[in-house]
Amino acid sequence: MERYSIITEKNPREIVLLRGSGCKWKKCTFCDYHLDSSVSWEENFRLNSKVLSKVTGTYGSLEVINSGSFCELDEQTMDMIEDICLKNKIKLLHFESHLMYRNKAINAKKYFAENGITLKIKTGVETFDVDFREKVMKKGFGKATPEQIAEYADEVCLLFGLSGQNEEGMINDIETGLKYFERVCVNIMNENSTDIKPDADVIKCFADKVAPLYIDSSRIDILMDNLSFGVGTKVQEGIK
Ligand code: SF4
Repeated sequence: MERYSIITEKNPREIVLLRGSGCKWKKCTFCDYHLDSSVSWEENFRLNSKVLSKVTGTYGSLEVINSGSFCELDEQTMDMIEDICLKNKIKLLHFESHLMYRNKAINAKKYFAENGITLKIKTGVETFDVDFREKVMKKGFGKATPEQIAEYADEVCLLFGLSGQNEEGMINDIETGLKYFERVCVNIMNENSTDIKPDADVIKCFADKVAPLYIDSSRIDILMDNLSFGVGTKVQEGIK
């Protein structure tokens, strides 16, 4: 599996896919991403240290993803991330976090800020339609509003391509994301091992009518394929 990549467009940064103890939520109906995990912190650190050693700081910006939330990374890996940022003059760090870790995310921002590193938190809200998010996707965000989510998150991931979604809803999600957050990452549902299947009509609607409206926006990443950032594998799919 590819775990290190460089993104050169829009928001240039290095990106690493690390491995943690596994998503504590694990209930999102569309996701099998959390399978990339191990209960052994030693093995995780061994893997993560190899991946992190590739980071050069070329853009001064590093995104760390780990098939869950950053709080599920072991302590040694967290220390190494900090060391690598300091050594390579990386001033901008991105982590993923579920809403359940919002307090830890806020504290982590303060901690890194003391070392001159700005931490941006990305959260997989998937949609701002609360009913769809909680009844169909089972995200575990409750009735959290965009304002409440923005208290800890700077960037949001949206997930499109599921049956029941439509043009109006997708546009509304993107506009809400742009209004309350610095960046929006649109993921398109890919086939995976869950019972939720990509809906070809919804994906076509997005590609034909929605994507053209936003494709040039510097604040939006659109990932038609879950390998678009250059990390991951075709077998392991899902969105965080
Ligand atoms: S989408 Fe994220 S929060 Fe949901 S089960 Fe997958 S890894 Fe966990």
